[in-house]
Amino acid sequence: MTKLINLYGLDRAQLESLFVGRGLQAFRGRQLMKWVYHQGMTDFSAMTDLPKSMRQWLQDNTCFELPKVDAFKVSKDGTSKWVLDVGQGNFVEAVVIPDKGRNTLCVSSQMGCMLDCSFCSTGKQGFSGNLAAATIVGQMVLANNLLVERGERVTNVVLMGMGEPLLNFDAVVSATNIMMEDLAFGLSKRRVTVSTAGVVPAIYELAKVTDVALAISLHAPTDGLRDQLVPINRKYPIEQLLAACRHYVDHLGERRKLVIEYTLMKGVNDQLEHAIALADLLKDVRCKINLIPFNPFPASGYEKPAKQDIYKFQTYLMKQGYSTMLRTTRGDDIDAACGQLVGQVKDRTKRQTRYLARVKAHSEEVAGL
Ligand code: SF4
Repeated sequence: MTKLINLYGLDRAQLESLFVGRGLQAFRGRQLMKWVYHQGMTDFSAMTDLPKSMRQWLQDNTCFELPKVDAFKVSKDGTSKWVLDVGQGNFVEAVVIPDKGRNTLCVSSQMGCMLDCSFCSTGKQGFSGNLAAATIVGQMVLANNLLVERGERVTNVVLMGMGEPLLNFDAVVSATNIMMEDLAFGLSKRRVTVSTAGVVPAIYELAKVTDVALAISLHAPTDGLRDQLVPINRKYPIEQLLAACRHYVDHLGERRKLVIEYTLMKGVNDQLEHAIALADLLKDVRCKINLIPFNPFPASGYEKPAKQDIYKFQTYLMKQGYSTMLRTTRGDDIDAACGQLVGQVKDRTKRQTRYLARVKAHSEEVAGL
């Protein structure tokens, strides 16, 4: 049996070429998009302005398939989390965070992650593969289906869930195109953010194909420290990363800024000396800074920063002229907070086994105290 094409994964250009390739006009692709995203219609027989033969072809060869929901939880602060069964024993997570009239969807782009940042629980799960564009868009459809019941919609998307988006480049570009497409979800390009740990060549590639917003998971102001926290830094050190950042932000135009993500970990990177080094490092990069107090998880080896250290860090950066936001922890009672997404993947790296052994040793140590 031929595999059906999941139409949730095709952006406007891809849909147009699907139809052109079948000898039809490109505008048919745009008509289809309107039915799906503006009318919420996925039944081809109801798309009466499409030729009957084409509707039959769509019926026989394509589908609209959403990821299977394995579990759904709502936090006491209103944060919602989906655990999605993405096949072959792999599960990923998506989270919606409501805040002051906004609904921010945090989307996963891979099953696990191969980058193994030392403070991230997703990284400890190992890696099992990329998500298809349709599965990334599917997270948006599920979230909107939930929100529409209370007359709301997803207003912002961040690709900061499980995975490194720029290592799933084509699918992420298609999915973000659909999120920003007027004929589909119509979000502003400022409201869809791809977050990277620093896959430098892919940042240059991204600038060639899109103007989606970009966030950099920096987390350290020096190579010595970043090598330990974000191991991809050994391949693409800070100087190369910031050169790529400057290139990308120039491409966005002077009214837009990058977002620098900085997770504060007690005694590791949260002291005034780090804030001073960070402010100096970023002086030529048009950016705003998001500070994220670390959310501990078992055997993470890191602790939450002290309130007074967070305050000093933020105040210093603000005095240097940086717009600096402190991200409050949301959804931690349902493990939906930043850095807590774990899903469950068939680990191809054996990292999960090593991590679980560490968790066991850690629990035994705690029990023995
Ligand atoms: S922080 Fe991001 S890039 Fe690093 S391991 Fe976690 S999911 Fe991967």
